[in-house]
Amino acid sequence: MKMSKSFKMVSVLTIAAMLVIAGCGNNKAKNNNEAGGNTAAGTAADSGAIAKIKERGKLLVGVKFDTRLFGLKDPASGNVEGFDIDISKAIAKKILGDENAIELKEVTSKTRIPMLNNGEIDMVVATMTITEDRKKEVDFSDVYFQAGQSLLVKKGSPITGIEAVTKDTKILGSKGATSIKNIKEKVPGVTVLEFDNYQDAFSALKAGQGDALTTDDAILYGMASQDPGFEVVGKPFTDEPYGIAVQKGNTDVVKAVNDTLTELKANGEYDAIYTKWIGKAPAK
Ligand code: GLU
Repeated sequence: MKMSKSFKMVSVLTIAAMLVIAGCGNNKAKNNNEAGGNTAAGTAADSGAIAKIKERGKLLVGVKFDTRLFGLKDPASGNVEGFDIDISKAIAKKILGDENAIELKEVTSKTRIPMLNNGEIDMVVATMTITEDRKKEVDFSDVYFQAGQSLLVKKGSPITGIEAVTKDTKILGSKGATSIKNIKEKVPGVTVLEFDNYQDAFSALKAGQGDALTTDDAILYGMASQDPGFEVVGKPFTDEPYGIAVQKGNTDVVKAVNDTLTELKANGEYDAIYTKWIGKAPAK
């Protein structure tokens, strides 16, 4: 059967229109996702997560327990202290009006994303670099600390910086840290021994199980301050901007965190916390 010219034209137009409609629908779905689930029940800025925290009456924060200067548990008092803890308390104060309405739970570089995404904690404040890979799994606040990867060695070591690291150097690090991937990219074929946390990695360095420990300079300075036999060498060789991670779509929590950071910076408290732990004012 031969189709008339006008019938053909109508069919082509119908198909074209259907494609356009289908395309629009897709875009809309995508935009909703990007806005963090813009449903009838909640706007883009309100995932309901803040309401849940308020109902519970305390903020659950994942922090390090073994990282001097950022999150370190004092075994005698049971207190956890550091830069990340002071920032966490300020966030609890902002959301709940009380900096002590907080429960600090131990995370490691490897456990922090799973613990966040299975709901054990509301946020991660734990020396965590914002990366494109991690952004696929979590949402991040604005940058709240600038670090860079470096090396910690026994004083007198022939390793004086990243240039001195070769395939035959034995590097120590923590599982799940950006530092592992970074050093393997810088020195292809290098041997890296991965530990569950930084305490174990530092013990291994002291026991002579490796030539250098690698992670962020700020963390390494904390270790060096514990043992005068070790020093940080060379210039930082990566950028590690720290962010506070929340479950994907919790835009209301990201906003509360960013508002807190802005306020801390404006009223001078951020500088005071920074100087207290890092020993100098942040670079402006
Ligand atoms: N900032 C780096 C990271 O997020 C290293 C420190 C850490 O392991 O927490 O992986």
